[in-house]
Amino acid sequence: MSYEKVEVPEDGEPITLADEETGALDVPETPIIPIIHGDGIGRDVGPAAQQVLDAAAEATGRSIAWMRLYAGASAREKYDENLPDDTVRAIREHRVAIKGPLTTPVGAGFRSLNVALRKKLDLYANVRPTYHLDGVPSPVTDPSQMDMVNFRENTEDVYAGIEFEAGTDEVQQVKEFVEEEMGFDSTIHDGPVGIGIKPITEFGTKRLVRRAIEYAIANDRDSVTLVHKGNIMKFTEGAFRDWGYEVDEEKYADVTITEDELWDEYDGEAPDDVVVVKDRIADNMLQQLLTRTGEYDVIATMNLNGDYLSDAAGAQIGGLGIAPGANFGDGRCLAEPVHGSAPKYAGENKVNPTAMILSGRIMLEYLGWNDAADLVREAVEETISSGTVTYDLHRQIEGGTKVATSEFAENVVEKIHDLA
Ligand code: NAD
Repeated sequence: MSYEKVEVPEDGEPITLADEETGALDVPETPIIPIIHGDGIGRDVGPAAQQVLDAAAEATGRSIAWMRLYAGASAREKYDENLPDDTVRAIREHRVAIKGPLTTPVGAGFRSLNVALRKKLDLYANVRPTYHLDGVPSPVTDPSQMDMVNFRENTEDVYAGIEFEAGTDEVQQVKEFVEEEMGFDSTIHDGPVGIGIKPITEFGTKRLVRRAIEYAIANDRDSVTLVHKGNIMKFTEGAFRDWGYEVDEEKYADVTITEDELWDEYDGEAPDDVVVVKDRIADNMLQQLLTRTGEYDVIATMNLNGDYLSDAAGAQIGGLGIAPGANFGDGRCLAEPVHGSAPKYAGENKVNPTAMILSGRIMLEYLGWNDAADLVREAVEETISSGTVTYDLHRQIEGGTKVATSEFAENVVEKIHDLA
């Protein structure tokens, strides 16, 4: 593979697809893994995560050949463009990559590079595991109840970008069509209006729900909850719920049961080897997240609900500095922390690299390197519980030692060596 704007590492081999049907990967001992450090604090957390992931790979008899890619400010500096085609191509061809945050300036004319990357690579599932790490301060009394994995549809819903600005000819045409052709007269108030369209497709829903159910089965999870607001948005969010149950029935009926079956046939006690598929209305779900946390496990939902829900869940277990994520397509993964580029802390060697490190952990699991992934979690948890923390956690706990981003990473690496 040759690129103009990407340097290919001398060692390492590319990851390839082992099975077209299942998306299973063939992972060499030294895979080439693209990394974008990112904008703002990306320059702090990117190298810190790289160091920890290297240590975990080496401690389990492997290594990573990093391929440094550029996007956002670093790409503008080097190549005078935001998202070089070579960057996208290198991720597409190498299948598994990790990125730090990219800044999206507010205002018209600048599309989010994160959204562009997800679209170009068809990364349709945004996955955010939310679990509590020992020692991390939390606003709830028992944060250990939280162990959820949120599957958020990444390509449709009101995020599809089909929006019409107030005062334009386009919005007028859409309004007239809706009122005159579709019969919704007097539904939209007079005067300036902005209109957005919310597409929810059977295709988009089924591939997302399939991924969530398959994850639950593969990881011995108890349940998958479809979260929707179908009582109000019947033909979009209601359809999501119906198509979700449909794909469950079509493909997984022998390993899943519905909540009705759970009560009718099993008296509320699910057998160990089945996954319960249930649904909740989004507003109720946001309450239950707090009041009945332990009853939720894998969540499958649409783009906007998923955004709200995963941030709310993240707050319960300690907030942005520790919240990891990854975007998946078929046979493809781009790991990235939930947080943004926090420009005011950029380059200060101050912020928490845990979110980026644990995003790397998701990537290791996807490679099938579960031993390395477990080491990363244990080492991070031990470092934090020993009171060695960055400023964000330090101000919330008593005692403890406040360390820089790089020192935190060095401590985690030491723990990996101790644990291995
Ligand atoms: P942000 O996540 O960058 O920062 C908000 C606040 O959270 C920070 O001021 C800081 O107090 C805290 N914080 C974030 N990361 C932290 C860490 N690792 N350790 C400790 N504290 C941390 O959100 P924002 O200010 O809304 O966005 C800034 C920029 O990032 C925007 O341009 C936005 O578009 C972009 N962004 C990018 C992504 C992404 O690349 N996936 C995600 C969200 C926001």
